[in-house]
Amino acid sequence: MSKFTRRRFIQLGGASLLAAGAAAGGDSPKSGPDRTAAINDGYLRKAALPEPKGPRVVVLGGGWGGLTMARYLKKFNPAFDVVLVDRKSLFISCPLSNIWMADQIPMEFLSHSYLDAAKSNDYQFFHASAVDLDRASKRLYTDSGYIGYDYLVLAPGIDYDYARIGVTEIEEQYRLRTEYPGGFIDFSEHLAIKRKLHSFQGGNFVLTVPAGNYRCMAAPYERACMAAAIFKKRDIKAKVLLLDMNADIRIKKDGFRRAFSTFYPDMIEYMPATEISGVDLDKREVITDFDTIPFDDAVIYPPVRASRLIENFGLALSSSPQKEADVDQFKYHFRDDQHVYVVGDARPQPFSKSGNTAYSEAKYVAELIAAHAKGKEIPWRSPQTMCFSGVRIDPLEAMSIIAFYQYDKKEKTFEFDRVHMIEKWSVRNGQAGLAWGEGIFRDLFYS
Ligand SMILES: Cc1cc2nc3c(=O)[nH]c(=O)nc-3n(C[C@H](O)[C@H](O)[C@H](O)COP(=O)(O)OP(=O)(O)OC[C@H]3O[C@@H](n4cnc5c(N)ncnc54)[C@H](O)[C@@H]3O)c2cc1C
Repeated sequence: MSKFTRRRFIQLGGASLLAAGAAAGGDSPKSGPDRTAAINDGYLRKAALPEPKGPRVVVLGGGWGGLTMARYLKKFNPAFDVVLVDRKSLFISCPLSNIWMADQIPMEFLSHSYLDAAKSNDYQFFHASAVDLDRASKRLYTDSGYIGYDYLVLAPGIDYDYARIGVTEIEEQYRLRTEYPGGFIDFSEHLAIKRKLHSFQGGNFVLTVPAGNYRCMAAPYERACMAAAIFKKRDIKAKVLLLDMNADIRIKKDGFRRAFSTFYPDMIEYMPATEISGVDLDKREVITDFDTIPFDDAVIYPPVRASRLIENFGLALSSSPQKEADVDQFKYHFRDDQHVYVVGDARPQPFSKSGNTAYSEAKYVAELIAAHAKGKEIPWRSPQTMCFSGVRIDPLEAMSIIAFYQYDKKEKTFEFDRVHMIEKWSVRNGQAGLAWGEGIFRDLFYS
């Protein structure tokens, strides 16, 4: 268990946080050890939040999982004093961002204010970055002070794992993330990719599909369709090279194959089983075990892992190759601590890493925590995966999947249960996808 100390704080980069503290006011000495100590004390102070009026539940991460947790914790137990913490001050949705890139919806559709969410649902939003956790004293440390908790829910999402495509040097990783962003975490990446797609002058545009349990199984294939649709509309001579580290399309296989050949036969070249072992950024080449693939521009989506925060907090499952959290698979609490929970894409269960999975799962875990606070239990229920994939634009046509999970006692793992897949794209399904997103945003932010 980590213990937060001045020494540890400095190791974590406290010195770089000092400037922000000093900027906020105070008479800290200008330099030297006194200044370091004074500002460390500033970060070891209590966060500026009203005193809790009931058992405090801190939710770290205001994405799909965290926003749902915060809302439904209040719903299941209005006495909870809920604080949602995120390092961003604005929510912009990753789901539906591919069709935004192809101008099928405006940015306003995807962006929503944490202030609206907090006000509508009677919880507090705290804009800060989490830096450490002390489970002994039940404190989450942030760059704006610590917050004491009765329960803590972590929903920090994912990080990229560039080492798994052979890019290990920090400088190379930085260049790759900056010049060819994957577009699966931060909206700055999405904006950069949209600009790329709308200014591409022609040639080979590489997109990659990672191996492992990556975020949103269908999204890289959908993005290939949207990229090709944009190039087609712009009437440029471009090829989308879709390099898949998997043996075949991972989901909605027949639908995507048909969409590629029906709408983009000379544009999308699908290359399965492409084991990427490096990227030569200067030559603009993807390196595989057998070949090099040149590109004019690219979106390199590497394999993913749970947010590094899980590992830094000492909560990662040592046997998990993706460093996911060591939580009870049915009750979601950390192995030996029923006051710390993990939901969303940082979980270890092999569920689809998707927004609707995080949304439905967080409702269950919120109810579970509310029950635990009353000394009760509730039965496990499966999360629900729901995913719409646009394949054609103007008007938007989409395919969809809805699925649940069941536990296979013999294999000791989860598997799909009751899968409803629609691989025949339609305008109606395109509209259904928009209605799905709108309904969830309304639930989390405005009701
Ligand atoms: C292009 C694209 C298309 C997708 N399409 C679909 C789809 O059609 N359907 C679907 O269901 N899902 C889809 N997804 C997947 C979906 O976005 C994710 O699965 C979902 O966001 C996971 O929720 P989460 O809460 O685990 O993580 P996130 O939503 O990523 O939230 C994590 C939050 O934690 C915050 N955070 C992290 N570290 C810290 C820290 N140290 N301090 C403070 N805050 C921190 C982050 O700022 C972030 O807000 C898509 C994703 C992408 C990128």
